[in-house]
Amino acid sequence: MDSATLAQVMLQPGRATRAIVDLDAIENNLKVVKSLISPSQALMAVVKANAYGHGAIPVARAALAAGATHLGVAMVDEAIELRLAGIDAPVLVLGPSDESEIEAAIRHRIELAVGDPRFVHAVTACAERLDSTQPVPVHLKVDTGMHRFGVPVLEAVAAARAIAQSSRLRLQGVFTHYARADEVDAAPTRRQAAIFEELLEQLHKLGITPELTHAANSAAILRPIGQPLSLVRLGIAMYGLNPSMEAPVWQGMTPAMTIVSKIVRVIELQPGDEVSYGGAFRATAPCRAALVPIGYADGYPRTLSNVGSMLIEGEPCAVIGRVCMDQTIVQLPDACGAEVNDLVIVTGSVVDRKGVIELDELALRANTINYEIATRITARVPRFYVREGQVVGVSRLTNP
Ligand SMILES: *Cc1c(COP(=O)(O)O)cnc(C)c1O
Repeated sequence: MDSATLAQVMLQPGRATRAIVDLDAIENNLKVVKSLISPSQALMAVVKANAYGHGAIPVARAALAAGATHLGVAMVDEAIELRLAGIDAPVLVLGPSDESEIEAAIRHRIELAVGDPRFVHAVTACAERLDSTQPVPVHLKVDTGMHRFGVPVLEAVAAARAIAQSSRLRLQGVFTHYARADEVDAAPTRRQAAIFEELLEQLHKLGITPELTHAANSAAILRPIGQPLSLVRLGIAMYGLNPSMEAPVWQGMTPAMTIVSKIVRVIELQPGDEVSYGGAFRATAPCRAALVPIGYADGYPRTLSNVGSMLIEGEPCAVIGRVCMDQTIVQLPDACGAEVNDLVIVTGSVVDRKGVIELDELALRANTINYEIATRITARVPRFYVREGQVVGVSRLTNP
């Protein structure tokens, strides 16, 4: 994002704290990935958790426009949200669903992951009850070592066969998930990939041919391991964020979200003055501080108390005292003449201005990962969607 775009956003009325989501960055990141994976691979844009906090519907549309063929979410309601917005592309619920959600999923043509025989039965029974003319597409999730969701690999052939032989179901996909693709050591991922490839080989020999096979998340796309399968699931990297320090995004991929705010009060502190709840910061010398209207209820982690930092006039300004529910205080460097209404960059950067606050850095200091901070930015923070420097949409609490 550049200064002109930022100025456009800041001209809009409303709360000073706002997230700017650059849809061109999302498209560009996706295109970079698409250009570097095998041309035969389909690309699923993972837009769960409100597109990692970026806004599910605008991001899903941008991703589809940039060449994604499928969308991935974590729960049926997230999939229905996309359908209600008129998005027609194939949508897969990657995680476990409740049996009571199956009917709605079928009615909305949402593809479900099945991870145990009991759930396969429940989908079959629902399909019979609805007497749908088409077999219901499902993706068999196989546990190849993460020990989270999925059928154990030893039971996968039987489960796949049951689905393939059912007149009510279609084996749309077989997939697995990597537990450690974002680590330096590729061996654990290679082991999981080998187990999965062997299973696919077995299925192939039995004449069981799922439409799609998939395993790679962002980290495994960025550092490919094993055979390229027919689809990849792109999450965090589409947003320009690193899956980990060990698995950074590729050259040319940039963060799509910038969070900004404005100074609402300049506070003069004298030695001994305490700041915020509990007096967790005490001034040792005269200094100036700035009040910024963002807090943990906006998703700014309370664990950034006394350790976070925001950017004012290109200078990092330390968070002092505890982060409150709605407000946070930062110290202004001695040379900084910032005043009320001046811009604060909470995370991100502006290309033609100095400084950057990396989400990775905030995550490190908050003792978490960038995924968690991004997904927890709440609906109180309005999202301004920009394209080619223009605001093309806004979602806010009063107009989601
Ligand atoms: C969330 C998720 C992804 C995307 O992961 P990233 O690390 O964000 O790319 C892929 N597959 C499954 C099963 C997921 O739950």
